[in-house]
Amino acid sequence: MQLSEYPLITYKETPVDAELTSHQLMLRAGLIKKLASGLFSWMPIGLKVLRKIEHIVREEMDRSGAYEVSMPAIQPADLWQETGRWEAYGNLLLKMEDRQGRLFCFGPTHEEVITDIVRNELKTYRQMPVNFYQIQTKFRDEIRPRFGVMRAREFLMKDAYSFHLDQPSLDLEYENMGATYNTIFTRLGLDFRKVRADSGEIGGSVSHEYHVLADSGEDEIGYCDEEDYAANVEMIEGNTAPNGGKLSFTRGIEVGHIFQLGDKYSKSMNCTVLNDKGDSIYPLMGCYGIGISRIMASSIEQNHDESGIIWPEPLAPFQIIIVALNKNTEDTTLTKSRKIYHQLKESGYEVLLDDRNERAGVKFADADLLGIPKRLIVSERGLDNQTIELNFRDEKNKIDVPFEQLVDYLEKLDV
Ligand code: ATP
Ligand code: MG
Repeated sequence: MQLSEYPLITYKETPVDAELTSHQLMLRAGLIKKLASGLFSWMPIGLKVLRKIEHIVREEMDRSGAYEVSMPAIQPADLWQETGRWEAYGNLLLKMEDRQGRLFCFGPTHEEVITDIVRNELKTYRQMPVNFYQIQTKFRDEIRPRFGVMRAREFLMKDAYSFHLDQPSLDLEYENMGATYNTIFTRLGLDFRKVRADSGEIGGSVSHEYHVLADSGEDEIGYCDEEDYAANVEMIEGNTAPNGGKLSFTRGIEVGHIFQLGDKYSKSMNCTVLNDKGDSIYPLMGCYGIGISRIMASSIEQNHDESGIIWPEPLAPFQIIIVALNKNTEDTTLTKSRKIYHQLKESGYEVLLDDRNERAGVKFADADLLGIPKRLIVSERGLDNQTIELNFRDEKNKIDVPFEQLVDYLEKLDV
């Protein structure tokens, strides 16, 4: 991408109605635009980051053995009436009516739809276990949409639903999803913790949340490393861990949630399959969510400084930004920058070229704000010495690399 062609609009001032750092930086860097309360447009650079998160999640979900599907965002009311959630879900549910007067909602989650598919399509034990997932836009009419995409009304979620003949099979997939989530959040470069979100009672529902650790997080987590125990404080009774260990506390942002649903939906929606003895049974279900768009804000909460975002490599919209220190459009610094830009693109790098007719200060400030990990500066001094200056967004030191060694040098950094 060349900034002389892309209409990048960044802001120096902190937006007035944004309290959280990640929200401020996403607006200032032009990654998102607010349309209305809890509704945001993704601009090209922001969308690139979102796609990277999506890609990692999709890759690991496919690897886990789950099958990707895509279900309608709009869902008929009768399905929700079957489970009793048309009323129980309350005002979070955005309801609407079509021209025939039939009621629908914009899906905040998809248990009803997937259970409807399974009850119509899957008949026997040979078709189980199975896990279906999708990456899709959800709508929840949150009472207090805030913090930008962190708690939006429309947001992107990965949701998965598994179906099983018995509890051991559900336990196995629950473990598999837990392991998959560990891989996903590690690959995304997040500092996270898996925490219990159930009461821990025998026979009760089993559920774990994944929290990105951040002081700004809305949730409080109690943990005890000696007992390898961590739980959402909403679930902790008393002041100690289960075996009496001392609790420490930290704050977190919920980015994922895994849940054993049991037969709640299969029963209420009369979804049955035949087991190997020919008996009709209600399959047990698990559900597994990840807040794709919330992850972007969470990552920024963990990776920024006073000048802007510091993207970890896997999320960075571009790996390299080339800053041309040109004064006019005919400058040799610009010609050289363009040459290097095309050379690096051909070598497979995602490169952003700042070839605008702007002052160096403006370009450096935008590069800091956008948070691209590697920066190459093409200056007249460098042209004289046949070198290019390389520095990193998260370090102070600078390296002068000879032009002809640049591609090799960058390659060595990546291995
Ligand atoms: P929260 O407690 O934050 O309201 P939740 O427990 O209601 O979330 P889940 O139903 O578990 O959310 O949804 C799966 C994931 O979707 C959550 O772990 C979270 O990362 C993400 N998510 C939920 N609500 C929102 C929202 N309003 N905006 C952005 N992401 C969200
Ligand atoms: Mg949750």
